[in-house]
Amino acid sequence: MGVFSSVPARVASVGALLAGISGAVVVSDVLPREAAPSNPLASPVQWPAVAARYRTVEHEVVDGETASEVLKAMNAPSGPLLAAADGRLNRLSVGDVVQLDFVEGESTPWRLRLDKGGPQVLALVRTGESTYAQTQIPVPFTIETGARTLTVTSSLWSAALDAGLRPGQVMGLASIFEYDVDFNTELLPGAIIRLAADTLTDDAGTSRVGDIRAAKLQNGTKTYVQIKYRMADGTVGWFKPDGTGARKPFLRSPLAFSRVTSGFSKGRYHPILKKSRPHLGVDFGAPTGTPVRAVADGVVSKAGPSGGHGNYLELDHEGPYATSYSHLSAILVKRGQTVHQGDVVGRVGSTGLSTGPHLHYQFFVNGTYVNPLTVELPNNGASELPEAEKADFFKVRDAVLPLIEG
Ligand SMILES: [Zn+2]
Repeated sequence: MGVFSSVPARVASVGALLAGISGAVVVSDVLPREAAPSNPLASPVQWPAVAARYRTVEHEVVDGETASEVLKAMNAPSGPLLAAADGRLNRLSVGDVVQLDFVEGESTPWRLRLDKGGPQVLALVRTGESTYAQTQIPVPFTIETGARTLTVTSSLWSAALDAGLRPGQVMGLASIFEYDVDFNTELLPGAIIRLAADTLTDDAGTSRVGDIRAAKLQNGTKTYVQIKYRMADGTVGWFKPDGTGARKPFLRSPLAFSRVTSGFSKGRYHPILKKSRPHLGVDFGAPTGTPVRAVADGVVSKAGPSGGHGNYLELDHEGPYATSYSHLSAILVKRGQTVHQGDVVGRVGSTGLSTGPHLHYQFFVNGTYVNPLTVELPNNGASELPEAEKADFFKVRDAVLPLIEG
């Protein structure tokens, strides 16, 4: 099925992950990286002996997920964990890994680890019946920035996973280029992505892909380059080599990953109505629960059941533009509410006249239906680096560009 077709077994649950409904991803019974915790805060509880069998349940955060959703899906005591985290679980990013460590036979985790891919892992260690204390576990590793090349044969997923990227990093990679290319419909076989990325090697010799610093996508005859830059105020953004921001008023697609199951047409045989009628939108096949994103800033003009459209959402954007989202399993916004680009406004479902979970997406210009896949999107208002930061950005750019050249 489309982009998921050749995903290896290790991440076979990526579809479910995208749907944000699956908790347990990897279950292992290996010993944790370090032995019994030596946290001085953690005295009242009998710590598991090093020889005890451990079980680790892992969840990789997907777009739009909150900490309480993740913990709920993993059957973890979210109240005590969130209290101990003191806000540090509030900002989960796509690709963050949440791990729960259990002693075999126990249902309450003795430790939670949040791995954001950095030099430290946040750990919440159990200190009592329902209390946890916060600590940091350093991850000693060496960092080396180098080049990696991905050649897309069947899908971006398989190419990126073959190159050692984690699912969250693939999603991140897609988001770098999502203003220019819709990975659902526009990525050509043979497309090449060159990355300047960190390789993190720990003292056991295990290595993994860390931070991605620059990326170049060669899709057919078109080439796109994006460079990551941390601005003076701490915001991290992606910029073109000339300092122009990647951000544009419209995303190419409301779903990060999916497949087009039915295109826009003025006359199509309707499988349920059993007659020919126009299909004035595009259908994206995706699992129930997949986050649906607002493609642009706007105001919710309709939100609720609407006949054959099932749970229906309409957004009014600046200028002559509006978009709509049908058959949702959940609507997460209210009429009159302001939304920002990328906000998760609903979840994919199969309500109304629908044969299976999919998103029916419509695009309006001055109230007229247009094909969302071919509409000329406005390109004004692209963000740009402040003039004062350009010199520093160019230094960063010149350091990473040679790695993605060629
Ligand atoms: Zn449709």
